[in-house]
Amino acid sequence: MTAALPGLRTTPFIDGAFADVGGAVESLLDPATGDVIASVSPASEAQAVAAIGAARRAFDHGDWPRMPVFERGQVLAAIADAIRARAEDLALLECVNGGKPLTGARREVAGAAKVFTYYAGAMDKFYGDTIPVSETLLNFTLREPLGVVALITPWNFPLLAAAWKLAPALAAGCASVLKPSPLTPLSTLLLAEIIESCGVPKGIVNVLPGGAAIGELLASHAAIDGISFTGSTATGVAVMRAAAGTIKTVALELGGKNACIVFDDADLARAAKAAVSSAFGNAGQSCSARSRFLVQRSAVAAFTEAVVDEIAHLKLGSPLDPATTLGPLISVEHWNRVDRAVQAAVQGGAPLVAGGRRPDDQKTGNFYLPTVFGDVSPDHPLSRDEVFGPVCGITAFDSEADAIRLANASDYGLNGSVWSRDLGRALRVAKAVRTGMVAVNGLPSASSTSLFAPFGGYKRSGLGRELGINALAFYTEVKTVTVDLS
Ligand code: NAD
Repeated sequence: MTAALPGLRTTPFIDGAFADVGGAVESLLDPATGDVIASVSPASEAQAVAAIGAARRAFDHGDWPRMPVFERGQVLAAIADAIRARAEDLALLECVNGGKPLTGARREVAGAAKVFTYYAGAMDKFYGDTIPVSETLLNFTLREPLGVVALITPWNFPLLAAAWKLAPALAAGCASVLKPSPLTPLSTLLLAEIIESCGVPKGIVNVLPGGAAIGELLASHAAIDGISFTGSTATGVAVMRAAAGTIKTVALELGGKNACIVFDDADLARAAKAAVSSAFGNAGQSCSARSRFLVQRSAVAAFTEAVVDEIAHLKLGSPLDPATTLGPLISVEHWNRVDRAVQAAVQGGAPLVAGGRRPDDQKTGNFYLPTVFGDVSPDHPLSRDEVFGPVCGITAFDSEADAIRLANASDYGLNGSVWSRDLGRALRVAKAVRTGMVAVNGLPSASSTSLFAPFGGYKRSGLGRELGINALAFYTEVKTVTVDLS
């Protein structure tokens, strides 16, 4: 099985080379079949320290941070081309390692290449200011690379999350140590090989497969200047705490419990199609998944029916089948977590409209039916907690104010949608919701169309923004220079 995976790399990438297989190896399982697909060598603590040392040397003494930004940009453009050239290999790794349907995996790879293309041309358009402080002083600011950054990514979009961080970090001139999730390191390790082949100097990009201990080491290490983390809110708290001792710059992309607000004048068929695609895309394992459907009371019956119709169009099955739109959950442990949340809701009396169990025709693999609960109260765990699986609830509202109140009754504030043909009302609601992003009458896909706009959350959904020109602010320091003209 392993031999069938082209581009398989299974050891840490440190200082421009893949390490030899160390002591222990960990098996990676195909979420669709349970088969072992590869054995990976997680980084040891000593290897993590070596990677940080390599990055520090490359940053403090190497060419990359000092290279003209246009030349760095050309290397990023070459990386984008190289990703496109290896697109099928990368997509296959995402598909088999993460259980992501091949079509979605291909979109993710295309999105990753596009991020590198975007940042290839970004750094010569992101510069300092001249500030009129006085007649006798010339005051200007310089944007300088932040330094050595630790990049920690989750398992749900491994390649895309790596690209969202690495491309602006490289463009800004930083050196990096990237730790993918222990569940899905394969595409990131192949990305390291691709980046190395494009002429990025050794030590500038290091990749450490590993778990929480390596993440903690990176977050607390004195030689790391900044940390960009994507994952759960609970881990984000731990990362922030670990980073506090050495005053690192911290960017956090965390969880979400996103609302899809549907008024009764909306195009219900389109709204239902988008709601289903958002709630069940990537098997619901997405921070932006709309898992709270807030629907005007008079439209609840029609919207629920439209959602059930849409679900019937989803094709659940092998991620390798290009027709599949719904793959398995990442692991048996995660399947059990999702099922526990569903069974607790059923036992608590929440009305099950669809799903709620393993599909009859999938005896193996971590498959779960798209699951919808009707009439979920706003204080129910299904309305509060991120299930991170194909599970959503419908809650009725009576007025615009009611919809806004319910949408904002969440510790999270990542994403959301508003559906109404009354554009004034839709925009009032879009302005009133406390989320970093909101879609009006549509669902822009972050991996394809929104690379130029900031991505991130309010409240416990995170700190800072990825993507767009703003992301470069995180990967740079500002230096103020004052010249006495007298
Ligand atoms: P997770 O928090 O369990 O793990 C994320 C990463 O942190 C992994 O690489 C993990 O090994 C590492 N880690 C674990 N403990 C650590 C510690 N103490 N210190 C440092 N690193 C540590 O998250 P996950 O289960 O991999 O991913 C799912 C979560 O990610 C969901 O909550 C989802 O909403 C969130 N997410 C957010 C975004 C976003 O952009 N806002 C995008 C994707 C996923």
